[in-house]
Amino acid sequence: MDDPRQVLERSPVVSEGLLGGIYSPDEVTVDHRLILGSSPELIQARWPVEFRFSTAVTTVPPGFDQVFICSGDDFETLFPDHWAASGIDRVKLQMMAARSPSGFQLGPALAAGLTLRFYPSFRICSTLPRLARRIAEETPVLERWGIHVMASETADGAITIGDSHEYGLAVDIFNKAEIDRLILDYLHGFLRLPRPEIAQHWHGVYARHPEADYIVMNPRRSPRGGKGMTMSWALAEESVNEVGL
Ligand SMILES: Cc1cc2nc3c(=O)[nH]c(=O)nc-3n(C[C@H](O)[C@H](O)[C@H](O)COP(=O)(O)OP(=O)(O)OC[C@H]3O[C@@H](n4cnc5c(N)ncnc54)[C@H](O)[C@@H]3O)c2cc1C
Repeated sequence: MDDPRQVLERSPVVSEGLLGGIYSPDEVTVDHRLILGSSPELIQARWPVEFRFSTAVTTVPPGFDQVFICSGDDFETLFPDHWAASGIDRVKLQMMAARSPSGFQLGPALAAGLTLRFYPSFRICSTLPRLARRIAEETPVLERWGIHVMASETADGAITIGDSHEYGLAVDIFNKAEIDRLILDYLHGFLRLPRPEIAQHWHGVYARHPEADYIVMNPRRSPRGGKGMTMSWALAEESVNEVGL
């Protein structure tokens, strides 16, 4: 959308300085609070899957044809030596949820300029290095905490706001007020959202490899680890196809 009016028709963004936007009709927003609770039932209705909750798998006994280990960022319980040798580590993200002011509608999930330098897909943009340089020079503190700012709306009208990225195996249990403030300040630079009441602050942690999008390991044969839920579907499909299931 190279006409700012097209952006303003879809999204309550700040018009001052707005040049245009990118709109994707293919994106979906998943509310993890709803999906995680209902997905076991959905899966069991379609496939013969048995779930065992509150059960730690502490060993992988021989005798199975195939075992897929999807243990998230638990690198200590199963095959710890392989995880340690893989170079994989953790990333901590600070997030917030705001109560949506009455009558406010966000529309499509939104991201702004910082996000362009965060996801590798945007590397095809020839002007990206200049943007990245400008952000690094003008706002180095955003670089320091790996901040890029996105907002999305859940069905019950809450606005999910994130996020920052702090890397390393040891995750600081304390959230940093400075990070939340930086995220909100940046958000208000592009979104016309009256100063919202923040209802929740939290952080999440996931596994990531500093260089690779995903890694394949082979303790007995082949556990795999990947980056992010977006990629996980393709990785799962590839893994299952590879062993001919
Ligand atoms: C705040 C936040 C925002 C994110 N945003 C995005 C995004 O925009 N796009 C994207 O692609 N990704 C995003 N991610 C990353 C994505 O959520 C993760 O990569 C993904 O959830 C990993 O899924 P998983 O099933 O591999 O691991 P997990 O979701 O961590 O699940 C692993 C499960 O295995 C269980 N487990 C571990 N060890 C054992 C054991 N020994 N026995 C029994 N159970 C065990 C754990 O308790 C856990 O329930 C985000 C993550 C966070 C935290």
